Amino acid sequence: MPQEPAAPQVTDHGGGVHSIKVPIPDNPLGHTLVHLVDTDRGPVLVDTGWDDPASWDTLTAGLRALGTDVSAVHGVVITHHHPDHHGLSGQVREASGAWIAMHPADTAVVRRTREAEPGVWLDYLCAKLAGVGAPEEHIAPLREARASGRMRTLPGLRAALPDREIVPGDLLPLAGRRLRAIWTPGHTPGHVCLHLEEAHPSQLPGNGRLFSGDHLLPGITPHIGLYEDPDEGGAADPLGDYLDSLERVGRLGVAEVLPAHQHAFAEPAARVRELLSHHEDRLSGLLALLSTPLTPWQLAERMEWNRPWSQIPYGSRTIAVSEAEAHVRRLEKLGRAERVVGGGVVRYRAV
Ligand SMILES: [Zn+2]
Ligand SMILES: [Zn+2]
Repeated sequence: MPQEPAAPQVTDHGGGVHSIKVPIPDNPLGHTLVHLVDTDRGPVLVDTGWDDPASWDTLTAGLRALGTDVSAVHGVVITHHHPDHHGLSGQVREASGAWIAMHPADTAVVRRTREAEPGVWLDYLCAKLAGVGAPEEHIAPLREARASGRMRTLPGLRAALPDREIVPGDLLPLAGRRLRAIWTPGHTPGHVCLHLEEAHPSQLPGNGRLFSGDHLLPGITPHIGLYEDPDEGGAADPLGDYLDSLERVGRLGVAEVLPAHQHAFAEPAARVRELLSHHEDRLSGLLALLSTPLTPWQLAERMEWNRPWSQIPYGSRTIAVSEAEAHVRRLEKLGRAERVVGGGVVRYRAV
């Protein structure tokens, strides 16, 4: 007998706000919390989930469990372009005619990814890795993939182009609700949090609620790497952006945070302080390492991760190096480290 599909996990957060746990296949994060905000013109979603048939089934079953239907969705507000947030937006728009809103800096990433030839992207990645001192054994598999033409399709190649722009500081067009966009760059250049400027339904003290996307999570430090923009030319400072964004969100004084992973939580100010001091410690640790000039790769090898470098899998090493670069870029902007270029690689040292 075929098994009944498990009931979708939906949570009532009160005051016309619900969440649906939409699974992310083969990913330790487990799920994206897709939030649904009731409006006078139908439900509006904050994020949509990973582009996968099982995730789609969970999302649509969740909407039905909440007494509505995907065809009734009026709009989609995207916190940032990552595929676990924006993956299903196109399918939701097809099923409902909903608008999709995103910050223009992330829309630019979506447009670039859609237009990029996978080969051009691999060339960029190989050159970039060589420039930060990655060993040949790390770059070789990418070169081989490029030469053979056997390239795994990157997620995001089919991502939907948004049709509305999120303007920082403005209210989103949600009939009967007050949802304001707060630009929080760092995790991505166009990440936004959404501030629901309405009294908390259980009278928790504070200034409304915040949909925080990946910016502020109760138990995870979001990945802060360099923005994947071949044209940024060394000007971007994602970690500086992130720390500023954290302080901005801390100042809102919201009663409760509704993040896109894990679970809702109160007292965001304490979590903001924790994250600020985490990055401060990390930056001082790096500064100590840079008493001798190091490439970003060498720095990543020496930094503290959640496991020894030798046990970090291949793909995560590329991400780790990007994170090391974002930290060293911050030190450079603060005037605490400088670049030493020579022999085709970049090194940094403390000043
Ligand atoms: Zn993300
Ligand atoms: Zn995410």
